Amino acid sequence: MRTGLYPGTFDPITLGHADIIRRACSLVDRLVIGVAINRDKGPLFTLEERVAMIEVECAALERQTGCEIVVHPFENLLIHCARDVGAGVILRGLRAVADFEYEYQMVGMNRAMDDSIETVFLMAEAQHQAIASKLVKEIARLGGDISGFVTPAVQAHLADKFG
Ligand code: ADP
Repeated sequence: MRTGLYPGTFDPITLGHADIIRRACSLVDRLVIGVAINRDKGPLFTLEERVAMIEVECAALERQTGCEIVVHPFENLLIHCARDVGAGVILRGLRAVADFEYEYQMVGMNRAMDDSIETVFLMAEAQHQAIASKLVKEIARLGGDISGFVTPAVQAHLADKFG
């Protein structure tokens, strides 16, 4: 039984995240979505709102892929979270070069702390690659069309936030 951990802020979950989750599901038997509490980042959605949106999106992905998906909020070190949930692999999405520098450092530091946990990078399909939660929020706030970036359910939650 192989368990993977896919960590992030998911503020909110996008079609980019869902693309990575679907791919991750083909590699593991059980996928834990680690939702970083990230008070410092000042998320738009509360932890409970982010978790609820992920659970809705993952219900369909779980049915489609047959992989068990668990949503797990965490506030401690990523490597400790991976141990807590019994994950042997951390899955991360990789967008353009901007993600690389940070991810490169993270892998190095995490490996220094625990060499037994591998990090695997996945790329979304072309149409989902540029999607970032931060930009989706900005576009929603300014009244733009975000239908290509998030599901209708998440779109409705963003509309509620921005009135
Ligand atoms: P964001 O950077 O959009 O706020 P998160 O912090 O929630 O997203 O990111 C969680 C993980 O998902 C990270 O590994 C991030 O690189 C990845 N990710 C987010 N959006 C995409 C995307 N469009 N394509 C590939 N990976 C993505």
